[in-house]
Order: sequence, then C-alpha cells, then structure tokens
Amino acid sequence: MAFLFPACQKDGLPGPAAQSVEGAATNQNLLELRSDEEPTPTILGGPRANPYTAAVMAQAWNNLYGENYAYDSLKTVLTDDEGCWRIDHVEAGKAYMWVKFKGPRASLRGFVGNTVQIWRLFVDIVDFAGQMGGGTYNNISIAYNRWVNQGSAAHRYWSAATVNNGIHEFFDEAAADGINTPFLHNDKPLDVFLAGNRGDGFALMPHAMGPVRVATVVAGGLEIGDLLFGGVNIPGWQLAALSYALFPDLMIGCNPNPRESDELRETVYHECAHASHFGQVGPDYWMALVLAEIAAGGWGDANSLDAGRIAVCESWAEYIGDSYNHRRYGGNTSVLPVGTTWEIELEQTRNDVPGHVPIGLHLDLIDPAVGIEPFLACEDSAPASCGPILDNVTGFTNAQLFSVLDENTATPEDYRVRIINELLGNPVQINGLFNSY
Ligand SMILES: [Zn+2]
Repeated sequence: MAFLFPACQKDGLPGPAAQSVEGAATNQNLLELRSDEEPTPTILGGPRANPYTAAVMAQAWNNLYGENYAYDSLKTVLTDDEGCWRIDHVEAGKAYMWVKFKGPRASLRGFVGNTVQIWRLFVDIVDFAGQMGGGTYNNISIAYNRWVNQGSAAHRYWSAATVNNGIHEFFDEAAADGINTPFLHNDKPLDVFLAGNRGDGFALMPHAMGPVRVATVVAGGLEIGDLLFGGVNIPGWQLAALSYALFPDLMIGCNPNPRESDELRETVYHECAHASHFGQVGPDYWMALVLAEIAAGGWGDANSLDAGRIAVCESWAEYIGDSYNHRRYGGNTSVLPVGTTWEIELEQTRNDVPGHVPIGLHLDLIDPAVGIEPFLACEDSAPASCGPILDNVTGFTNAQLFSVLDENTATPEDYRVRIINELLGNPVQINGLFNSY
C-alpha cells in the first residue's frame, strides 16, 4: 500500500493545488481517492490504462475531537466511475481510511481460508487503507497491485478490485447494448462471494429465486459447502442450518495463479450475463437450469437432462463473457499466442463438447458473413473436434438476440425458430449456421 499523489481531476478541482491544512480554519476539506487500474496482463507487460471504474466505498474517519467522538465523524462516500471521491469536512489531526467493496450494484464477501469460522463467510471485504497523520489529505491514490501468494491480502484486494470493476463494466456495457443489466432483487446489490481457492463461478440468484425454489434445488443436490462457499471446511450441520438468504447470488473463483485480469473478468462477465439473463427468464426457468446443472455435474453433454436449457444459458453467458472481454482488452490479452484477441478465441470455438453448448453461435449471428469462416472452429473440450462453420448470417444485435432469450427459449432449437419467425432471419442462412454446430 502506498500513498501517491496524482491529480484526481474531478469537480473542476485543480488536483494537487486543492488542499486542506491541518488545523486550518477553513470550512472545506478535500479528500480524494483515485485507484489505479490493476496491471494489465503481466504476460504482455502492457501499460496501465484507465483508472478504476469502481464504485468502491471509501470511508474517512478523523479524531479531531478525541476518540469518544470519532464514530460521529465517520464519513462514508461512494467513489465515482473513475475511483474518485470527495468529503467536504473540516478536520485536523489523524484520519483513517477504509475501502469497502460494497456499492449499489454489488457487495463483495468471502475470500476466506480453507478452514474458517462460519461468520467469516458473510463479512464484506474491507481494506484498511491507512492512517494519515495530519498534513494535506487530498489526492490520495490507492493501487492494488498484482498478487504473488495465493490467499494473501494482495490476492484478496487485487481480486476484489478486479471483480468490482468487472461488474461495473458489465452494467455499463449491457445498458449500452440494450440488454438487461444484472437482476437486482428488491434493488439490493448483488451478493457476490469471492473464492480464493478455485477458478470457476456460478450465478445461483437465491434472493430472487426465493426460499421454496432454493429448498428445491438443495433437495436436488446443491452442495452448500463445496459449491456455494468454495469448499470451505465448515461442519456440514452448520452449513445445512443456513438460511437461503445467506447464499450468495454469484460466486467468482479468483484462483489459480496466475489468473490474469482478463481471465478473471471473463468469469465476472459470464456470471453477470447469467444474472442479466435471469431477469429475462424468471425464477422458475432458473430453478430448472440449476437442477439440470446439478444433475449433469456441470454443463454435461448433449444427453444430459434438460441439455437444451444448459446449452442456451451457458453458450450465451460464454459468448457475452468473451465478447465483453474483447471490448475491454482488444489485442492486449493474456491469450496465447501474443496478439490473440478474445474475439478470435470466440471465433475459433464451436461447442463446449460435441453437439452441446454452441459457444460460437451468437457471434456468428452478428458478425460479418464470410461464407465459410476463416478459422476452423473447435470444441472447447479435449479432444477437440473441429470443422468449418457455414456462416452467411450477419447483422443481428445483442439486443435482438436477447429479446428472444426469454422463458420460452429453453433449447437451441427454440432459439433457431424464433430467430427466423420473430427476428425475420433468412431460413436457409439461419439453418445452415445452426447445422454447423
Ligand atoms: Zn455459466
């Protein structure tokens, strides 16, 4: 943790010239936080680009009047999308600051060790950012740098900052696309659990599903400890006694090492795409999806129970994850060989396994038609079988495709028919493309 002094040029402030002086009889004091972006993928050693698009919560606490009054002077403010914040307040003496990863869109918790007390599963992630012992408090910058040791504080805060930023980016991209932003039950922030010991994720959405549906998926085999909380070693009876309301909406796995920022964002965007899709399909559809994935032990294959629903939901989330990552990173990615974009990665992907989860399909409905794709598209799984994609389709938008991904689209076949009938796709072209998958 280092305190730096760049200019956070907000509110017309001149940066370093804006200041407060200890003990000065002014009626305004300025504190600003600007968080540098986490390093771009280290494999390329790319430049630092943008500041956080974070809405982390920052707190300043001064003890001008002594400890007895300190709590009264606790100030809480949200940062803006550039990580800047400001508190107008007269103060002198020491100040203390925390960064809390909680805002109106998401609250982040978790990142506990393998063996913990159960209460640690439910605490918001907060970083004590330091004590400022007087002097000028303005233009404070906090950077969460790349971590080295799994489970360390650096791992926790870098991951929390990256996940936080990714969630905010998703909201902005989804709004720009005209698709749903992640569903917020009763306008409460998404409850996000970060796991420091795994790399997968899920979007259970228990708050919006409600207690009866969640009880149904628990009875269907949902593993509360292993699946929901990252395999923590807590007695099963304690976990079984938890209210459904304590289950997280999203789980984001922040391991393994190295987990570059684009790789972690792919998971964040994927799970946010599920949370967005949830609002379009509703809780009964989602319960069926969860039950199907429990029964399949994941995405399953073409013969799994309700395989079509898994195929629709996971291919869409994977497509959004890759394509939003492409918007975010362009050619500066950790995908090998150097220069490979997430969009190229997507174009080279056909299904997850043969005939199941058509990951590459959605982009092929949108991108320029090229006849036969310039890339052979392959299954994600090994051994990958590859083949050309017959893509004469172009011009659909995310908003159009999303509009037919409601509760009545439970299989890729439903999707195909609705694209032809409701979005007026050319039947020959649409069928040719779908048959390539
Ligand atoms: Zn998924």
